[in-house]
Amino acid sequence: MSGSGRGLPRRALIVRYGEISLKGRNRGAFEQRLRDDLAWFLKAHGHAYAEIEVERGRIYVRGVDGAPDLRQVLGVYSYSPALEIERDYGRLQEEAARFFPAIRASRDFRVSCQRIAKDFRPDSMGVERELGTLIEKNTGTPVRLQEPAFELHVEIGHRRIYLFTEKTRGFGGFPVGSAGRLVSLLSGGIDSPVATFLMMKRGVLPVLLHFSHSDEETAKVRRLRDRLQEYAAGHELPLTVLPHADLFQGRLGDLLATRLEPYVCVVCKYRMHKAAAELAMREGALGVITGDNLAQVASQTLKNLYASRAAATLPVYSPLIAFEKNETMALAREIGTYEISVAPAAGCTPPRNPKTGVDEARLLKVLDEVGLR
Ligand code: ATP
Ligand code: MG
Repeated sequence: MSGSGRGLPRRALIVRYGEISLKGRNRGAFEQRLRDDLAWFLKAHGHAYAEIEVERGRIYVRGVDGAPDLRQVLGVYSYSPALEIERDYGRLQEEAARFFPAIRASRDFRVSCQRIAKDFRPDSMGVERELGTLIEKNTGTPVRLQEPAFELHVEIGHRRIYLFTEKTRGFGGFPVGSAGRLVSLLSGGIDSPVATFLMMKRGVLPVLLHFSHSDEETAKVRRLRDRLQEYAAGHELPLTVLPHADLFQGRLGDLLATRLEPYVCVVCKYRMHKAAAELAMREGALGVITGDNLAQVASQTLKNLYASRAAATLPVYSPLIAFEKNETMALAREIGTYEISVAPAAGCTPPRNPKTGVDEARLLKVLDEVGLR
């Protein structure tokens, strides 16, 4: 191995992805996208690196500067900052000394070894036992296999060995854009940004559509877009903002203000679905995302969702449909949209007595009358 290890040891990142769900030819395309997204992210956040290499089930970023937070790269299942050394057992025993101070300061420790390259000797158990004994002797800290205070991980790769102590969970999923495009109906509320994020995590590139009541609300939705954009690895999230008043043109507005007030929310959603489907056709998007949550508000009864989606000519995806509100809020906090969503901004004022069971036939008849079906 002499000569091939020049510049070692050096800092590296081990990036893990959900390889189990990847089959056949998809695997190569997925790995290439994730590799590109990691490269974009590291560059955008000012972390220089020497190279990125894909090995089965792993991506190694070699010679990396600083400590990047890779949770923002969708498709990353977990990652670890690591020390990369030559693939040589003698070197491993020497380099383990770097961890002596931290292990001395701990109550107990263990060595956990994963051997990706099965040709390496000793095997994982052997490495754990021998290295454990060596460290115990040198530091006076005892080995403890169950819940140790300090865990030194050794990963034996095909070309190098990696030493690390932490594993940070990412959001998993797939690189943004790998699945295709959907239009996302984005309000300034808590739910739709979370729904959009969940679909991004499955590889969707969202094309955002917002109906705005005020400049304040528009500014808020732009901030939400910017936050979601941070997870998009450089792919632009287009945002279309239209005046909310456009949904209720002419006679429809008058009708809703008088006879049909309890229908307002369902008519509003119907008109939004119509506009979303039209935008989707223009953008080559294959469906629409909403933040709908069953029974949360009057317009989200099964009957009202049914009626308002009469306008939906493409599939509608609502990943939060069965979430509890606190699950959605926890996720909103985690991805950083919550603080933006709860800021006050003039939005819609729902009617006092919204109808929870709008009849679809009646709704369509009214829309026919005003020529907006
Ligand atoms: P959110 O928290 O996302 O606003 P919600 O639970 O408050 O959702 P509604 O306000 O009834 O429920 O909205 C249901 C869905 O309709 C939203 O999640 C969003 O997808 C879409 N929507 C609502 N208002 C707008 C808007 N002004 N512009 C675009 N889409 C909207
Ligand atoms: Mg809302």
